Amino acid sequence: MPVGRFFSEAIETMPRSDLDALIDERVRYTVHYAAEHSPFYRHWFRENNIRPDAIRVHEDLLDLPICSGHMIREHQPPVTPDFEFLSAEWGEIFSIQETSGTSGVPKSFFLTWEDWKRYAEKYARSFVSQGFSEKDRIVVCASYGMNVGANTMTIAAQRIGMGIIPLGKCSFESRVLTNYKPTAIVGSVFKLLRLGRRLATEGMNPAQTSVTRLVAGGESFADESRAYLAEQWGCPVYNTYGSTEGTMCGECTQVAGLHVPEDLVHLDVYDPTLQSFVKDGECGRGVLSTLLPVGGKCGTLLLNYDTEDTTVVLSRERCGCGRTHMRIVNPQREAETVWIDGAPFNRVDIEAAVFQPENMAYLTGEYEAFVYDGDAPHVTIVRVSLECLSPDQCDRKLVEDRFIARFLKYKPGLAAQYHDGALQVIFNFTGLGGLEFAKLRGRPKRLVDRRHL
Ligand SMILES: [Zn+2]
Repeated sequence: MPVGRFFSEAIETMPRSDLDALIDERVRYTVHYAAEHSPFYRHWFRENNIRPDAIRVHEDLLDLPICSGHMIREHQPPVTPDFEFLSAEWGEIFSIQETSGTSGVPKSFFLTWEDWKRYAEKYARSFVSQGFSEKDRIVVCASYGMNVGANTMTIAAQRIGMGIIPLGKCSFESRVLTNYKPTAIVGSVFKLLRLGRRLATEGMNPAQTSVTRLVAGGESFADESRAYLAEQWGCPVYNTYGSTEGTMCGECTQVAGLHVPEDLVHLDVYDPTLQSFVKDGECGRGVLSTLLPVGGKCGTLLLNYDTEDTTVVLSRERCGCGRTHMRIVNPQREAETVWIDGAPFNRVDIEAAVFQPENMAYLTGEYEAFVYDGDAPHVTIVRVSLECLSPDQCDRKLVEDRFIARFLKYKPGLAAQYHDGALQVIFNFTGLGGLEFAKLRGRPKRLVDRRHL
């Protein structure tokens, strides 16, 4: 059956008061389910003197402590004999997944088939909100493996009736585009940029392929790099924010923040000390809770889980697309934030400064930055390395000026330090393949703090 503007219209356009009532009903059921089925949460409620039936509405989640990824790792083998977050019988588990483990030991997640259907529902809504239908054919460059992303998209595509080309990586041959004429590609911003550059060297203009949309995910990015990617491919780029932990948020065609599927995952935004909620419009730490429909089952659920990402609630009003589910700012990794004498910046701030339109006549967009102690006390050095199309022909002065202007634009604390000499920014221009991370395997670490704090 062809899908229309919505995948699940009644729930996606539900008036706020009804949606809040549904959320509260699911908070009660999910907390009850956790107390019944999850060894970890059973102990957690007892140790923290919490009666599960005292949690009635979503605001009551503030009374519960915060859970961390560390806690998951500390309650699974080899630390404990059993997986204490497992909340269904082994016979009900359809698949075992793991987080990528970039920050240490992988966390184990157990999914029932019901869980998969709920995960896929979130992606299906997101795809439809981006204009996808059964007419589309989509190349999935996210990797098929122990994390849930690519498989979730594939199940979602089946629900929509879309075609899937499950390549699992962006390094595919260009014949895929010419032979199968896909209408969209899902991948990370940098992999899509590299794919576009490679196609250009093969004499193919990415903007003149069959691709009419890109869906970016996997890591946060700057609006500037998205704009450059959209220009390279001559089509819109929609953002998604997903994780094995269960967030799956997506931008609709309005590009006015990422919709959170509020009936399936509850997101609170906390102050940095994780003591209270911040107001809508203020930046804070994203804390999520799984929401189960009454009677639902779940292999691994999370209550008050610290995502270690920062975000802002933009709006809980109805979006121009008709959806009522709240919209958030593209979350940023807290681990990619560096503080210099009380003033923070994120890897995404460096990226925004790199991707200034005038700079892109000379740069590929690939960058890395290191923070060092200066020679004099109280001096900090940020060393930015930029990959150039041709280092000899790069207008370095222009690139440096554009970079500094954007980097300091919204950072009065850093700007003050820069102007009195306490913060120095030095630049290094390299040729293709000349960045340090190019020599390392795995996901590049683009902002590294090498200070002796
Ligand atoms: Zn919308």
